[in-house]
Amino acid sequence: MMRAENARSVVDGNAIAGLLAELFTQDMTMMTGTCGGCGAQAPFAHNVVELDETAAIVRCRSCTHTLFTVLRDGETLRLRIGSLVALEAP
Ligand SMILES: [Zn+2]
Repeated sequence: MMRAENARSVVDGNAIAGLLAELFTQDMTMMTGTCGGCGAQAPFAHNVVELDETAAIVRCRSCTHTLFTVLRDGETLRLRIGSLVALEAP
């Protein structure tokens, strides 16, 4: 756990491999996202998704801002962050 009284370490991204794995290997639909457009907080499962074969546009149900977009280009998946400002694991 990170503690406020501890000295801050400046390291490279390899140091957070475990932290990122812990965050992103969960059921992402249960993660709570915060919309920067209106401040609404909701699990991703509750958001509105516009879906086709190359893109999933995830919108805030409250204000319709695009929270993020997942783009598929062949084998490549790309996540483009929109108005999503925070992500919280359950
Ligand atoms: Zn919103």
